[in-house]
Amino acid sequence: MSTTTFKALISAERIAARVAELGAEISGDLAGINELTVVCVLKGAFIFAADLVRQLSVPCRVEFIRASSYGAGRASSGEVTLENDGVFDLDGKHVLLVEDIIDTGLTLSSIVVELQNQHLASLRICALLDKPLARKAPIEADYTGFTIPDHFVVGYGLDLDGRHRELPFIAIANR
Ligand code: 5GP
Repeated sequence: MSTTTFKALISAERIAARVAELGAEISGDLAGINELTVVCVLKGAFIFAADLVRQLSVPCRVEFIRASSYGAGRASSGEVTLENDGVFDLDGKHVLLVEDIIDTGLTLSSIVVELQNQHLASLRICALLDKPLARKAPIEADYTGFTIPDHFVVGYGLDLDGRHRELPFIAIANR
């Protein structure tokens, strides 16, 4: 039986400081718009989005979509399914898509294609973490919290088989 070990990568304090910086930067860039629709990609971005919206000084709505490219475990299936509750209309909206991590980029690319079918006023992407070494689809976030090496990480919303989302810091999981 294998045991998972964790190695701290980004402390809660560094995350909080970076989220505040991102909030200030996004608020500055979007100053003057009537309303921002923050679209949080479930489940991994829920903690990041909750902290980020509290650092924004533009009026917001918050919506949620679900995208999954991983089954149980750590290998991306490459197939992405998207779900939302079907009640939000993004036509004419300024949208900030909030993702936990960009790995291969396949998930984000699929979401962006989906959103581009709607008539958004603007689309910006904010990802807490970026693993550029794993990229398969040519896509980048407009705002990135931290660029990290190609390791599987957990904590601050990110899971391993549904667990460890509650950790206040980000850690590398090895098993
Ligand atoms: P991509 O489609 O870019 O390969 O993967 C994006 C999604 O895979 C992320 O939104 C996240 O749910 C999951 N993912 C990718 N890398 C990691 C990782 O290191 N840790 C965790 N917990 N999830 C990851």
